[in-house]
Amino acid sequence: MMTTAQRLERLGIPLTEEQRMVSDSARELASRRIAPGAAERDRTMKFPLEEIGELASLGLLTMKVPIAEGGAGADNVGYVLAMEAIAEACASTAVVLASSNLSSKILSDHASPEQKERWLRPYAEGKLGPASFALSEPGCGSDAAALTTTARRDGDSFVLDGSKMWITAGAHAGIHVVFVRTDPSNPGPEGISCLVVERGTPGLVVGKEEDKMGQRASGTVGLHFEECRVPAENLIGPLGGGYAIALSALGAGRVGIAGLCLGLAEAALSAGVEYARERRAFGKALTEFQNTRFVLADSRTDLDAAWLLTLRAARLLDAGDRAPVETSMAKLFASEACARVVDRMVQVHGGYGYSRDYPVERIYRDARVTRIYEGTSEVQRLVISKHVI
Ligand SMILES: Cc1cc2nc3c(=O)[nH]c(=O)nc-3n(C[C@H](O)[C@H](O)[C@H](O)COP(=O)(O)OP(=O)(O)OC[C@H]3O[C@@H](n4cnc5c(N)ncnc54)[C@H](O)[C@@H]3O)c2cc1C
Repeated sequence: MMTTAQRLERLGIPLTEEQRMVSDSARELASRRIAPGAAERDRTMKFPLEEIGELASLGLLTMKVPIAEGGAGADNVGYVLAMEAIAEACASTAVVLASSNLSSKILSDHASPEQKERWLRPYAEGKLGPASFALSEPGCGSDAAALTTTARRDGDSFVLDGSKMWITAGAHAGIHVVFVRTDPSNPGPEGISCLVVERGTPGLVVGKEEDKMGQRASGTVGLHFEECRVPAENLIGPLGGGYAIALSALGAGRVGIAGLCLGLAEAALSAGVEYARERRAFGKALTEFQNTRFVLADSRTDLDAAWLLTLRAARLLDAGDRAPVETSMAKLFASEACARVVDRMVQVHGGYGYSRDYPVERIYRDARVTRIYEGTSEVQRLVISKHVI
């Protein structure tokens, strides 16, 4: 099977030095350090804190942050390649990477020089652990502009009250990038601002870890703010500018999730091919049956199509286009193609595909949420259909 670098070269798009570096270091770390413990972490829900530390030391939590600010200076194509490599080994680790990169990119794009010195640099040096991106709430996810967590101005502080839900890495993050309503008289997006809340701030209560179907080691929690006071200088970007910050970060974040889906599905396809070569039925290897061959062909085609859409979106982002439709298409297609591929590979495994002894069972559970988080498939279809109409 061709590597991503070979496929790109065949298209006349050789990898840049930075893309090769970020992709190679992610791939090396994934196979040496992340893949071996993935099944165990899935069983025990143990958060990959040490592994995240190693990712940080390679600049992989700040991939899209410029080198001058302490980041890896990668572009979106490099980001996709790294996400794909990590997700092939462990989707839980990959989603922590996604939320950490979402947060570091927000700080890089919108924080003041002082704020960058205070949070971004130590974060890039791996001193703060992962970061969380806290937008969703118990009462709203797709309709994030309806959020109700408030931050009331009180002298030199903001005082937060309310709850966030489903926050990846929330229990372990050194900093939380939190979206709050600073103008209660404005129930729309313009009433929302973005604040940094540091780990251990009094009034920040971390909820119990969610016992999830898949991506079980990603440390998903609720965050509760009870009269949680933060300095006013923790405001990121303009007052009332938080929703626009969240939307633009999520737009670019979608190609990362598409990369995650590619990694998961590639892992399933490799496992399926290997199993089909070994397993015999009716005196033949499964690969001798036309049905097996056809599902492998459909899966490869699905994955190549997803890969092309993802690459297109990443390259548009790298060219300075916000590409809302193309990033939505990439995320929609890659997550749905991932589901199809993974489901077929469970079928190829027969009964063994239903056993925890085979990685494809975990991949099947890990894949399901990719159609839900960072914008459900329905929300992506809303974006795309608006453009079509
Ligand atoms: C494992 C996991 C990790 C997550 N990590 C984070 C994180 O780190 N940070 C964060 O902020 N959030 C995170 N989320 C939250 C995630 O982004 C939301 O769950 C997601 O956006 C959907 O929101 P919801 O769960 O409130 O569903 P709802 O918005 O209530 O949607 C329910 C159903 O209705 C559909 N629907 C809603 N509105 C429409 C519409 N207008 N048209 C058609 N259909 C519609 C949806 O597509 C969905 O099928 C995570 C979620 C999970 C499960």
